[in-house]
Amino acid sequence: MLSDSYGRVATDLRVSLTDRCNLRCTYCMPAEGLEWLPKPELLTDDELLRLVRIGTTRLGIDEVRFTGGEPLLRRGLPGIVAGTTEHEPRPRTALTTNGIGLARMAPALAEAGLDRVNVSLDTLDPVVFEKLARRRRLDDVLEGMAAAAEAGLTPVKVNTVLMRDINDHEAPALLRFCIERGYELRFIEQMPLDAQHGWRRDNMITADEILQRLEAEFGLEAADADTRGSAPAELFHVRGANFPDGRTATVGVIGSVTRPFCGACDRVRLTADGQIRNCLFAREESDLRTPLREGATDDEIAQRWKAAVASKLPGHGINDPSFLQPARPMSAIGG
Ligand code: SAM
Ligand code: SF4
Repeated sequence: MLSDSYGRVATDLRVSLTDRCNLRCTYCMPAEGLEWLPKPELLTDDELLRLVRIGTTRLGIDEVRFTGGEPLLRRGLPGIVAGTTEHEPRPRTALTTNGIGLARMAPALAEAGLDRVNVSLDTLDPVVFEKLARRRRLDDVLEGMAAAAEAGLTPVKVNTVLMRDINDHEAPALLRFCIERGYELRFIEQMPLDAQHGWRRDNMITADEILQRLEAEFGLEAADADTRGSAPAELFHVRGANFPDGRTATVGVIGSVTRPFCGACDRVRLTADGQIRNCLFAREESDLRTPLREGATDDEIAQRWKAAVASKLPGHGINDPSFLQPARPMSAIGG
C-alpha cells in the first residue's frame, strides 16, 4: 500500500500524459505557452504502462485518471487506456480534458475501457471563452461533452473555475446548462498553480461566494455530509431540479484553498516525465524514470514509489505565511 505517516493511503493515481496544451487558460498558463518538455524526457507508452501496472497490481491503486496539459493531445491515448485496464485488479479510469477533440475520440476511448470524463468548461459565452482560454474553441468543447455522454463516458462531470469580473456572473447559467444535460458540475476555487504566478488570494472567488451566487437562484441542500470520504467536492442537491434520468440534480464545490481536504487526500501524481509527486503543491518529486531506464526491477520501483508517498506532508500549506508555490505549474504536474 502507498501509505504516509499521517495514516492516509493513496489509491487514486493521476497520470499526466503531456504538459502541452491547445488552450491558454489565463489561470493556468501565459499567452505564449510554456517551454514544453523535450520528447526524450517523456515516458514512452510502454514505460508509462509499466508504472501503471506496478501501481495497480502491487501498490493498491484502484483508480487511474489521465490528465495533463491536454491528454487528448497524446497520440496513443486509446492504447494507454486499453493497457491500463487489461490487468487484474482492473482500476477505474477517467480523463480530465478541455474537450477539444473529444467529439472524435470519445467512441474509441470508451471502446478502450475508459469509464468516464471530466470536461473543463468555464463559460457558455464564446466571447468570454476567447478571453479566458485565448482560443475560439467553445463549440468544440460543447460537442466533445455531448459526444462523451453519447459514448457512455458517464457521469460526465464538468469542472469550472470562476474568475472575478470575467465569468463569475455565469455560475447559475452554467448550472442550468449542466442540469438540463445530466452533467455533474463542480466549481473549483482558483489555486496558486499558474505558470505566471498571477494568483491573488483577494481576487479568488471563494467557495462561500460560489455558494452565495448559486443560492441566489437555487435552493441547495448538503448531500454528502456523511458519505463524502476522500472526494474533494462538497456536494449539494439542487432543490426541485432533476437530471434528465430523473435523479435529483447535484452541484459540487471544491474549496481547495478555503476548505482544504488534505486530511482525507488519497491522491498521488505521476508527471509526464516520470516523477512521482505526493501532492499538487509538493516542492519535491521522486524520480522513477531514471531507475526505470537503468533496468530497476518492479520491486525496486515499487519501493521508491512507497518512499515517495510516505514522506507526504499533512497539508498544502497555502494558508501559511511561508507558503511557496511549487516550481512546476499545474499544466506540467497534471491537474
Ligand atoms: N487540460 C485539461 C483540462 O483543462 O481539463 C486537463 C489539465 S487542467 C490543468 C485540469 C483542471 O485544472 C482543469 O479543470 C482546470 O480548469 C483546472 N485548473 C487549471 N489551473 C487551475 C488553477 N490555477 N486553479 C484551479 N484549477 C485549475
Ligand atoms: Fe490547457 Fe487545461 Fe491549462 Fe486550460 S487548464 S491551459 S485547457 S492545461
